[in-house]
Amino acid sequence: MSGAVRRFDVAVIGGGSAGLAASITAARQGARTVLLERQGSAGGMGTAALVHSFCGLYLLRQEPGAVLANPGFCGEIERRMIEATGMGPQRFGRVDVLPQHPVEFARIADGMLAAESGLETRFHTVVTGVEREADGWRIDLADGGRMFCKALVDASGDAVVAGWLGGGFAVAPAAVLQRPAYVFGVRCGAVLDDAGRLRVSGLLVEGLRAGALPSAAMGLSFRASGRPGEVFGSVDLTGGVDGAEFDPLDPACLTALETTGRRVAHEAVRHLAERDPEWMGAYVSHWPARAGIRESRRWIGEHVLTGDEVTAGATFEDQIALATWPMEMRETARGPKLRFPVDDRPCGIPLRCLKPAGLERLWVAGRCISTDHEAQASTRVMGTCFATGEAAGREAAKVADA
Ligand SMILES: Cc1cc2nc3c(=O)[nH]c(=O)nc-3n(C[C@H](O)[C@H](O)[C@H](O)COP(=O)(O)OP(=O)(O)OC[C@H]3O[C@@H](n4cnc5c(N)ncnc54)[C@H](O)[C@@H]3O)c2cc1C
Repeated sequence: MSGAVRRFDVAVIGGGSAGLAASITAARQGARTVLLERQGSAGGMGTAALVHSFCGLYLLRQEPGAVLANPGFCGEIERRMIEATGMGPQRFGRVDVLPQHPVEFARIADGMLAAESGLETRFHTVVTGVEREADGWRIDLADGGRMFCKALVDASGDAVVAGWLGGGFAVAPAAVLQRPAYVFGVRCGAVLDDAGRLRVSGLLVEGLRAGALPSAAMGLSFRASGRPGEVFGSVDLTGGVDGAEFDPLDPACLTALETTGRRVAHEAVRHLAERDPEWMGAYVSHWPARAGIRESRRWIGEHVLTGDEVTAGATFEDQIALATWPMEMRETARGPKLRFPVDDRPCGIPLRCLKPAGLERLWVAGRCISTDHEAQASTRVMGTCFATGEAAGREAAKVADA
């Protein structure tokens, strides 16, 4: 694309859960908005990486019954997803989780984006850079096109704008970055109840001990999708492959994750299909568009939310959302370690965490908002990303209107 520079009030980079909420909210405030997304659908990790449950939608509570922490956009998505899947929130210990299906998420997002008359959605659009101008931002696209917006939202997950500006971000040391995972779909008639899962674990351990499966199959688990004959597999990966450090922003590292994930998935499903009568005939039915990245660059904003604040259930005068998910540490590929807040208290997210320090007309939303490594282990979940996206979209629309 080339030619005249297109002008918008608000531009949102990235159409994951945060960018979806931000763009729809900005358009609903009357801002002429554009959503720029490099994949062919919205949903980000929730569609492209096949992450299949919404965490962080609900308050932590001992009592039965799920209660939305951040009504508004979260409530709208929750209602549409329940209608689509027929599955309501599920309780695991003290947390409530809404199972979601990536196929439905992409379709729901299409419908919501199309319903907003002031919103232009541009899939297959890669943003390559931005430049600050007097009254807004110039946006450069990979196809050579340019756009201008009065207010910008970075919902890229990777804080790409901070990367282009050359500062204002933090990244955890490679050794503790939350580990990536590779999620894939399996066509399989097995019943994944407790006994079925135990049998699968036993067969995988046998395969690992016998050297019939790659060592990465250690991080493998399966969960029913809620649809007959369909299962999701997830391989937790160590990140760095062949001795290299994990770098979620390095295409070579990402390439190794993709190919390792596919190899492990293929060999493990074949292993189970040959040994378990319920898995007979099972096969990998779909690959994700990309491996799942939990953490990369985080913006440094006017406030950096800390793990201590999440643990204490801190409140702030300018809070715009509640983080309710326990800090889910995945610093190794050996499964999660959950850290719950005192008395299950939700933690406020101040608007200042969405405001990069020293930069005007710029807001940030989703997994790259301004937090430390520990707090991000709570705020990165999709329920919270919807809520920070909604707030960023609202604020960006105000700036554009001023
Ligand atoms: C394996 C795994 C399991 C998880 N499990 C859960 C779970 O069970 N429940 C839960 O709620 N959360 C879970 N999470 C966390 C959650 O999925 C993510 O943190 C969340 O989806 C992030 O949303 P986001 O909108 O901030 O970013 P993303 O979903 O990463 O979206 C960012 C979007 O920006 C686009 N983009 C980036 N750069 C550009 C560019 N230059 N130009 C154009 N577009 C660009 C990307 O294509 C992407 O679509 C999991 C994450 C992983 C990886």
